[in-house]
Amino acid sequence: MSSIFKKIIDGEIPCKKVLENEKCLAFYDINPQAPIHVLIIPKKEIKDFNQLDSQSMSELLDFTHQVIEHLGLKDKGYRLITNVGEYGGQEVPHLHFHLLSGAKLKWEKLA
Ligand code: AMP
Repeated sequence: MSSIFKKIIDGEIPCKKVLENEKCLAFYDINPQAPIHVLIIPKKEIKDFNQLDSQSMSELLDFTHQVIEHLGLKDKGYRLITNVGEYGGQEVPHLHFHLLSGAKLKWEKLA
């Protein structure tokens, strides 16, 4: 079954697009956790970081650098995270990197 991100890739659900190329898509998170909160995803259906292959990682790396440059965040700074599974708090089973910025970010202390 397709995830909501597959529907966004296929244009069945709208998104606020930041950047796109043949392999990857970046769009604003619908429920932002920081002043800037962008999701970066491969168009290929990859469930999570455990399933990520080096070819797709390489494509995501170049694309993520472009998104960071595009948003003017390279020198200002940002946080890049990916959630995996239950402990990671992953809700959408399609690999995505959260790019967070726009303020001095803090850690939530759990231990
Ligand atoms: P995660 O918990 O790591 O799986 O993150 C999923 C993220 O997707 C959450 O931050 C949601 O706010 C976001 N999200 C869910 N549906 C949409 C949507 N239709 N457009 C943009 N972001 C979404």
